[in-house]
Amino acid sequence: MAQISASAGALLRHVRTGRARSRADLVALTGASRNTVSARVDQLIAANLLAEGGRGWSTGGRPPTLLQFNSRAGCVLAVDLGVTSVDVAVTDLSAQILATVGHPIDIADGPAPVLAEVDRLAQKVLAEAGLAPVDVCAVGVGVPGPVEFSTGRPSHPPIMPGWHDYPIPSAFGRFGCPVYVDNDVNVMALGEVGIAAAPQDVLVVKVGTGIGCGIIVDGRVYRGAQGSAGDIGHIHVAQPDGRTVVCRCGNENCLEAIAGGGALLRDAVAAGLPVSTTREVVELAAQGDGPTLELVRNAGRTIGTVLAALVNFFNPHRIVMTGGVAQAGAPLLAGIREAVYRRSMPLAARALEITVSDAPDLSGRVGAALMAIEEYLDDDAVQQTLAP
Ligand SMILES: [Zn+2]
Repeated sequence: MAQISASAGALLRHVRTGRARSRADLVALTGASRNTVSARVDQLIAANLLAEGGRGWSTGGRPPTLLQFNSRAGCVLAVDLGVTSVDVAVTDLSAQILATVGHPIDIADGPAPVLAEVDRLAQKVLAEAGLAPVDVCAVGVGVPGPVEFSTGRPSHPPIMPGWHDYPIPSAFGRFGCPVYVDNDVNVMALGEVGIAAAPQDVLVVKVGTGIGCGIIVDGRVYRGAQGSAGDIGHIHVAQPDGRTVVCRCGNENCLEAIAGGGALLRDAVAAGLPVSTTREVVELAAQGDGPTLELVRNAGRTIGTVLAALVNFFNPHRIVMTGGVAQAGAPLLAGIREAVYRRSMPLAARALEITVSDAPDLSGRVGAALMAIEEYLDDDAVQQTLAP
């Protein structure tokens, strides 16, 4: 079995995620000495991050004192920036939403007006929750485009004109705390696995106008060398009829150019269906319209052929579908399942679950909060908080 870290940050994480409820649990889980665990737990209690309360079941001898994470030791701001709307929430350190508000925006207006609106909403949610800017420990922001995670700057985002290289964290200077920015798919992926993320390997696939994938390895987001891991929308797919479709990236026959929301709308219009938005295509499919169902199922099959390759390569426990087109639910999922189970290796597919997100609207906010919390409470950061 792999060595389990017993750093103060790791001990805190074990309690936060419910893997340990007492000093004895932490000793058993990490293999560290009782003295080491107790000294670090005492530091975490002194820092107000852990609290003692209640008694657990005895397994002989004195019943253990239970440890609890003090999720009200601070709060985080979570910002879910979309193309046409923004949601801002303030949460405690367990990602429980204390107050939230949304507002329409146009991301193409550029960073200055959009981030001014975000600031207004942030003040509003803090006031509603009875909190002040000084209470904010960290800020998490999800944006609909590629981001250099280390600097929080978007990198040539195709649907965010004017945002290239803009230092988004600078807009939150008044809070005097760390700001973490990532693309919306990675953020939603964190929201899907939640705070008690079992150390699982999960792919969260967003099918909206574009197609992207958040990769969760052992409960954490995998970003790759430059932060662009999971950009599956531009994987090349073969077309059975030899047709060529040029993608917005300039290449031919990318997955999203054939099976994304825009492609679905294009094919529906070409087939003479009475629709003018992707949402209408999804609604028509939900009403059981035969030709629309077939289009959606075909898109599912195409997405499934790419996912089958990813399953063979990555062997995830779960795949979660999210985004506007995933709302089409059953017909899309049927096409995806058909292709994945037919094309992936039996060992990788045996216990694989493929589901649609339960709360697609909430996962952006919860995920942005979790991103901020995980970074704020990571090993090094906790070490610094505890340093005298
Ligand atoms: Zn492309």
